[in-house]
Amino acid sequence: MKDVRAKKHLGQHFLNDETIAFNITKLLNNNTRNVVEIGPGMGILTQFLVKNDYKTEVIEIDTESVFYLRLNYPKLDIHEGDFLQINLKKKYPYNFSLIGNFPYNISSQILFKVFENKDQIHEIVGMFQKEVAERVTSKKGKKRGILSVFLQTFYDIEYCFTVNEDVFNPAPKVKSGVIKLVRNERKKLSVDEKKFKRVVKAGFHQKRKTLKNALKPFKLINESKIANLLPLRAEQLTVDDFIRLTNHVQ
Ligand code: SAH
Repeated sequence: MKDVRAKKHLGQHFLNDETIAFNITKLLNNNTRNVVEIGPGMGILTQFLVKNDYKTEVIEIDTESVFYLRLNYPKLDIHEGDFLQINLKKKYPYNFSLIGNFPYNISSQILFKVFENKDQIHEIVGMFQKEVAERVTSKKGKKRGILSVFLQTFYDIEYCFTVNEDVFNPAPKVKSGVIKLVRNERKKLSVDEKKFKRVVKAGFHQKRKTLKNALKPFKLINESKIANLLPLRAEQLTVDDFIRLTNHVQ
């Protein structure tokens, strides 16, 4: 059958290298057999999931891709719809791994949704544009951002490999990076999570400022105990530093 016509507004760049696809699926630790794939397209990753006997569920927004998948994978569990609109707790009420060559136009939204559903998603494996992949994995410095800190709080994150533009159809303008996130031991924060999020956001919204300035809107308690952190900028702080800061915010 004819290939699916790539649609730009859906961030469609179809991977056409089977070895790379296989290597991505190999990164799954598979300690549960449940895998949810976002944006399977024509199923280049999906085929290996199915071969591996994972209980595979896919979410695809593109009607044409869904049609293609239904013909080629008649037994596959396909949900036609927008990943961002799905209530994951209702639709997949168990622990699962999330995989995908993710649509790059909604990368951050996907990752924020992962963070909101972290107790259900014990692992994420997949491809983002390289810059996003680096940002998420970055432990210090300019690339670090709100998502890096949020995700690193609850996941061990590894940059796995870079993928060149020429293995996609159509070729994207940028390189891609494959990353893997595995849920860590931290079940709950020792500080209020909402407050922690506000502190991290405030720090990065005023990236160039020291934390002392960025945290002006907050009332600090026992400021002397965090005197070593306040002259720094958000990008210089570890997850534990942010937890400590939160402890001193009223
Ligand atoms: N995994 C395929 C396709 C990658 S392109 C491959 O590697 O070849 C990204 C895919 O995500 C496309 O199939 C696109 O239709 C789908 N997609 C885009 N936005 C989506 C959304 N909000 N929810 C689910 N799928 C989406």
